[in-house]
Amino acid sequence: MAKITVNDLDVRGKRVFVRVDFNVPLEEKDGRMVITDETRIRETLPTLNLLISKGAKVILASHLGRPDGQVVPSMSLAPVAVRLGELLNKPVRFVPACVGPEVASAVGAMQSGDVVLLENVRFHAGEEANDPAFGEQLAAVVDVYVNDAFGTAHRAHASTEGVARIVAKRGGVAASGLLIARELQFLGDELEQPARPFVVILGGAKVSDKIKVIDRLIEKADAILIGGAMAYTFKLAQGAKVGLSLVEKDKTDIALKALAKAKERGIKFLLPVDNIVATPVDSGKKDKKGRPKMDLTQPRVNVGDNIPDTEEGVDIGPATVKAYAEVLAGAKTVLWNGPMGIFEDPRFAEGTFAVARAVAEATQKHGSKSIIGGGDSVKAINKAKLGNQVTFMSTGGGASLEFLEGKVLPGVAALKDK
Ligand code: AMP
Repeated sequence: MAKITVNDLDVRGKRVFVRVDFNVPLEEKDGRMVITDETRIRETLPTLNLLISKGAKVILASHLGRPDGQVVPSMSLAPVAVRLGELLNKPVRFVPACVGPEVASAVGAMQSGDVVLLENVRFHAGEEANDPAFGEQLAAVVDVYVNDAFGTAHRAHASTEGVARIVAKRGGVAASGLLIARELQFLGDELEQPARPFVVILGGAKVSDKIKVIDRLIEKADAILIGGAMAYTFKLAQGAKVGLSLVEKDKTDIALKALAKAKERGIKFLLPVDNIVATPVDSGKKDKKGRPKMDLTQPRVNVGDNIPDTEEGVDIGPATVKAYAEVLAGAKTVLWNGPMGIFEDPRFAEGTFAVARAVAEATQKHGSKSIIGGGDSVKAINKAKLGNQVTFMSTGGGASLEFLEGKVLPGVAALKDK
């Protein structure tokens, strides 16, 4: 599992191509594109500073948005070069292309420790198609390949996989950056032999999205706590009434299988014992897809298994929070993926925030190792301002989920084993 990292490399004077994830949110202000959240840029700094201090010529490549192989000026990486220069405290030259003569000439002019940022690789259709010819063009200026973009490591694209293979074939090294190395450590190694009890919290919209993770973790965990809309598919499978809750009626069979497997293994598999429910009322407005938009009105606590026909489950209730917090207090390893309710609405965020507090407390007071598996749970932890009180927060959404399913990520597989 362990991969060669930038720590292991001698890169002095070498042209090091680093695939980063600079897919930052941008907003237009006064005719300029402005970065509204620079977390992803900051996360690459340890790897970049290390390479600079080792005397590499650092060539950065990333995607931004979904330009689908077209040049879309609002998705240019130019604003990122400016901000990165400020954060690194040194000039970052922006090249308005990612392949071709402009790149060759900019790289040819580089000195050890210099940094250039190439234009959005997804302006070329060859990127997402992992076109070998486009990969060769990218690789034309590369001695060493480094991948530090965990968020796209589950995609076999030219800059995440193709170039790595080409460089390796030529006898060069393809290594992981510090960020990917940490992801592999926490989502991989730390969960192989977790300190016990190992408690897994799973939430979010759909059982079907996470059934492979559930299935795999039932084999490893001591307790699984279920929240979010996916809990209602389990409840329905057990014969309860779920009212108007978001539910996957055709997935009750996989829910029952998971419950049976948990029973067979003798692990705790907890479902909510109460819920916050609300009454959906047509707001008269339409959503982006033209469907009627519902207002969720009259929130209240609903105790027990059954939700009335006119109401919808939107969060876990206080008794569930208490039960889950008790299990978490005894945990030595915690893995969390997916919110407990519609946490984007402050009225239905308490269950998710309370679980976030319980995870932070387990980490701070009981020395538990807490791993937050990306996406909405990371957003929730940050919203609760508890990001610095957990052990690790993954930078991948889809990538962390696929990794937790036990899938081989193409962007990781292409890197050299230790
Ligand atoms: P996922 O991407 O599967 O982790 O799902 C995250 C989404 O699930 C968030 O946008 C939540 O609003 C949504 N969600 C969580 N609980 C519920 C619920 N009870 N009803 C509807 N949506 C929910």
